[in-house]
Amino acid sequence: EKNALPDHIEKLLQDRQIKKEQEGPYIHILPREELKEYEESGIITSMESRTRAYIKIQDGCNQFCSYCIIPYARGAARSRASQDIIREAKSLLEKGFKELVLTGINTALYGSEEDFRSEEKDVYGIEIIVKQLNDLPGDFRIRLSSLEPTVINASLAERLLKYDKLCHHMHLSLQSGSDRILKAMNRHYGRKEYLEIVEVLRKADAGYGLTTDVIVGFPGEREKDFKDSADMVKRVGFLKTHVFPYSKRPGTKAAEMREQVDPQTKKARSAELIRIAEESSRDFLKGTIGDRRKVLFEEYDDTSGMVSGFSDNYIKVYCQVDDEKHGQCLLNTLKEVKFSEIYLDGVRGTFCDK
Ligand code: SF4
Repeated sequence: EKNALPDHIEKLLQDRQIKKEQEGPYIHILPREELKEYEESGIITSMESRTRAYIKIQDGCNQFCSYCIIPYARGAARSRASQDIIREAKSLLEKGFKELVLTGINTALYGSEEDFRSEEKDVYGIEIIVKQLNDLPGDFRIRLSSLEPTVINASLAERLLKYDKLCHHMHLSLQSGSDRILKAMNRHYGRKEYLEIVEVLRKADAGYGLTTDVIVGFPGEREKDFKDSADMVKRVGFLKTHVFPYSKRPGTKAAEMREQVDPQTKKARSAELIRIAEESSRDFLKGTIGDRRKVLFEEYDDTSGMVSGFSDNYIKVYCQVDDEKHGQCLLNTLKEVKFSEIYLDGVRGTFCDK
């Protein structure tokens, strides 16, 4: 999860420090100002399954949210060259992957550097790479990983809707539903801007899947601020909300803020928000019953005799199959399914082409 990244980075930095002390002066962390170019690591793609592959398109962040250590540890935003991304995407598609997930530290910042050059006309930022991938031939889909509402606004959201291979799912980090707390977090958007993006997406597709992260118990968060977060979760109708109780990151502004929230209050607010988020998710799922969507099947379960996978709007979908052979044949295929009822953590459906 995105919010777990600071922990991983802190651990990495500590490990490197220990290694440095053990091995002498050969390993050092570059200061932020030296992390200017996107570095090709050689091992970019990770494959979660035989169907979905992750392509890293960007590194670093310029945003400096007051609770986050990432911009100090990962340096400024820098984009991977589009020809390298396209070359990798082609090779993954040739290997049979049906879904490409574009990832980065702050993915939406792709192409945001002043000196970033592109051949594309009238297309900017993340849209550049989405367009180029969308133009590749084949039956596959593109998903964007976590996006920041500071970078994505209603007009960019609208432009992205025209790419038919781009999944109707966005992980749009909310972090708080209170304008006062968003300001203290240095997030540069408010409830209004966030809801404008949601409106554009849901107007185009009522079943557009939205997932998010919310921090509870940020320093200075009062009952009214928490209620604002709960209100946003209800209003938007997220498919999934990851709730994180705030925890201090040494070296960040938020760690030094007064009015730290006590652990019991954080715990109680987390439990309350998780309950609201689950209700909200169920309501969203209910609203999708009867819809027809394309599902990429990833797993066959011989106990239930069902195949499961994710729809473009990121709903886990389960379908009964005739037998194991039928189930295995469906893996890594995109099929249209009609949703019939809420089932386990998603919905159950029937194949439209039967
Ligand atoms: S956008 Fe904020 S939370 Fe995300 S990586 Fe950048 S500073 Fe951290």
